[in-house]
Order: sequence, then C-alpha cells, then structure tokens
Amino acid sequence: MPHQQQIAVIGGGVIGVCTAYFLAEAGYQVVVIERLGNVAEKASFGNAGVVAPGYVTPWAAPGMPKKLLSTLFRPESPVLLKPTLDRALWRWVRMWLAECELERFRINKARMQRIALYSRDILQQLRDHHQLDYEQTRGYLQLFRSERDIALAQPSLGLLAEHGIAHQLVDAEQARAIEPALSAATPLAGGLHLPDDEAGNCPLFTKQLKTIAQDMGVEFHFSKTVTALEVQGKRIGMRIDEREFSADAVVVAAGIDSARLLAPLGIRLPLYPIKGYSATASIRNFDEAPQAALMDESYKVAITRMGSRIRIAGLAELGSVSTDLHEVALRTLAKVGEDWFPDAANYSNASYWSGIRPMLPDGPPVLGATPIRNLYVNIGHGSTGWAMAAGCGMVLADVISGRTPEIDMEGLTLARYARLP
Ligand SMILES: Cc1cc2nc3c(=O)[nH]c(=O)nc-3n(C[C@H](O)[C@H](O)[C@H](O)COP(=O)(O)OP(=O)(O)OC[C@H]3O[C@@H](n4cnc5c(N)ncnc54)[C@H](O)[C@@H]3O)c2cc1C
Repeated sequence: MPHQQQIAVIGGGVIGVCTAYFLAEAGYQVVVIERLGNVAEKASFGNAGVVAPGYVTPWAAPGMPKKLLSTLFRPESPVLLKPTLDRALWRWVRMWLAECELERFRINKARMQRIALYSRDILQQLRDHHQLDYEQTRGYLQLFRSERDIALAQPSLGLLAEHGIAHQLVDAEQARAIEPALSAATPLAGGLHLPDDEAGNCPLFTKQLKTIAQDMGVEFHFSKTVTALEVQGKRIGMRIDEREFSADAVVVAAGIDSARLLAPLGIRLPLYPIKGYSATASIRNFDEAPQAALMDESYKVAITRMGSRIRIAGLAELGSVSTDLHEVALRTLAKVGEDWFPDAANYSNASYWSGIRPMLPDGPPVLGATPIRNLYVNIGHGSTGWAMAAGCGMVLADVISGRTPEIDMEGLTLARYARLP
C-alpha cells in the first residue's frame, strides 16, 4: 500500500518543503530532516524573490562569457572570481562555456521555462487554496542600460514570442510609466515588461507552507544532519548525527550539499556553489519606491518590493563558499539601488546577506528517480529555485506516486548527466 509508506525529505529549503507538502497531499507519511533550526535558512532565505517564468534564463547564454569577462575587474561588477585552483570549478566553467552556444541555450531555456511556467500555476493554486500572503507583487520589468544589453537579450525575446508569453518591449518613457519612481538620472535604453511574472518573499512562503504541512501530519526534525545514505534492500538508510535510520523512500533536496550525499552512491553531478548577495532596506519614502520587481540586466541584479522593504539581490561569486561579505558585491548592490530608486531607502543602512546557489552548468534542475530504487532527487535549481519550487514539489510527488507528471520530463531528469564520469 504505497500510501502508508514513509518518505524522508532531506533539506528544509523551499524545495524540500514544497516536496514534503505535495507528498503529504498524496497521502504519504513524510519527515523532513533539516540541519538548521528552521526552514528556509540557507539559499532560500535572502533571495531576490522573483518568480518570472516568462524570463527564466540559463546563465549559460550566447555572449555571456564575453560580457562577464569585460566586467570582471570593474569596481562594481556582476561577477567576482576568487582565484582558486579548484579543479571542480574549472571543470564546471568548461561545461558552462559549452552550454553558452545558441542551440544549447535554446534547449536549456525551453526546459527551464517548461517547469517554471508550470510552477507558477501550481504556486497560484497553492496561494488561492490556502489564502497565502507572502508579500507577492505582480509584473516584472527588465531594464536595459545600453543598446548592447538589448542586443544580448535578442535570443530570449525570440523565444518569448515563440512560446506565446505576454511581454512588451518598452522605451525609457514607457518603463517609467510602469515604475513611476524609476530615476530619470540613470541612462536607460529600454526595457522588457512581463506583466504575468511575479515576485514574493520566499522564506515567508516557505514558513507558511511548513505550518500547513505540519497540520497535514508532516514531521520536521530540525538541527539534524544526514551524514550518509545507504541502500538497505528496498529501503534507504540514513546516518543522522551518528544514529542509523531508514525510510521506504528518500528525496534528496539538500541544496548545494546534495552532491556530497549522492557521490558515494555513484551519482555524480557537476553541482557547483555560486555565491550571491542581497541587501534589504526599509523603505523611507513610499512614493519613491518600486511597486513590483525589476531586473537591472547590465548588473544582473534584481530589485524587489517586499512589503515595506526593498530587496536588491544578485551577483555571482565563483570559488567561494564562505558567507563572508565581499566589499565589491555590497558596493554593486548599493549602486544599483541608488541608480534606480535613490530616494526610496537609505542603502548604507541595509542588511546584507550572502547565499549559495546550487548551480548546474546548463540551467534546468534535476528531478525524480535515480538509478537507486526509492532514492529520488529534487536538486540543482541554481538561480531560479523559488520560481520552480512548487512545480518541482508536485512533479516529485507525481513520480513517487506512480502518476504521470503534468509536464514533459524530457531534459529535467538525471538522464541528461547519465554519461558523466
Ligand atoms: C542572491 C540570490 C538571489 C536569488 N534570487 C532568486 C530569485 O529571484 N528567484 C528564484 O527563483 N531563485 C532565486 N535564487 C535561487 C534560490 O534561492 C535557490 O535556487 C533556492 O533557494 C534553492 O532552494 P533549495 O531548497 O534547493 O536550497 P536551500 O534553501 O539551500 O535548502 C537546502 C537545505 O538543506 C539543508 N541541508 C543541507 N545538507 C543537509 C544534510 N546533510 N542534512 C540535513 N539538512 C541538510 C540545508 O541546511 C538547507 O536548509 C537566488 C539565490 C541567491 C543566492
């Protein structure tokens, strides 16, 4: 009787909590094992909050290597590279470069968009069903500081039209009509408006869903670390803080730490930590603040309205897993805030945060079954895990229950990395 089975979900980020919720809804007995004291304390904590399936884009894109190289040594830069001899980094970079080719980009973007569009529908259903309020806003405005940024966006624009996604290319004046507080002092070549995309407070949502899941019977075990997994016949064994446990099935949703748990079982993935930063500031002048979410394409930094606060988030630091706050990163976030909404907040008083994106070189996550019976994964969501969480949770519950997921799983499973040594 599958519905009496016990399933353990490792990781209480937004991905693990969504998975646990949908598994409980499917009738399973679910336990979530989380190393920290609450849900959404790692990557899911301080992210930009953007849920933009219309513009969900792999970082591996045509023109991106050149753009990143040209900004690497600027005083404010979207990318920081800590010099390191880490072989895993250079291997990841090689794989990432191969994915920047146009045809690969189109394939990866279509895969990401498939799961992200589905996920937005599921998120909306969850929101309506449980009457959730997580400081959500509607609409997403992409800002292009230069004609070069508009040119770089062309491959994505073509795909938006192909997929029938509502969007409007706007000039600077139209952009300022959408976001009236946008500073006129900063040069703006144009924008792209996606009216159906959204943003919201990811940890607030995750905590609300945790409470709902608890009411459905999901058990959360905090301050417990899974140190090893083991095949025990049909069951999966887990070493948790030196004690042995087992479950009928296990879902690994441990963010960046997933690769370390899976490798001893022969499941190897090029999951690499890409650090990002955010700044959160209280709004001091509401007339001068953004109304919804924006993205500064030149700096790859998002600006999001979260209730009475503004969050500015983005940047990619390679070669570092520490939570140290790098001065260049903080300066870049403050600059983006000052450039677009100078009177909305005092950015020098912002609270700063850094988090690790669990990034695969191509972009889409890896979902579902593994070669090991009853071991499943929901990992590799990189820079868009919040946007994909609800849909990925639903897909995992479908796969485990033996139901056919509502979306095509092509390119979203471990199969695409099956031949990796
Ligand atoms: C600066 C920044 C901005 C971002 N902006 C956006 C955005 O606008 N939109 C978007 O969609 N995404 C965004 N993201 C990405 C998004 O935050 C992540 O993709 C998402 O949070 C990943 O969720 P997760 O649950 O997989 O990982 P996490 O939130 O990291 O959760 C994994 C959990 O597993 C636990 N864990 C790990 N190992 C173990 C173990 N062995 N035992 C027990 N527990 C364990 C960890 O403690 C952690 O709580 C951003 C990320 C960053 C860093």
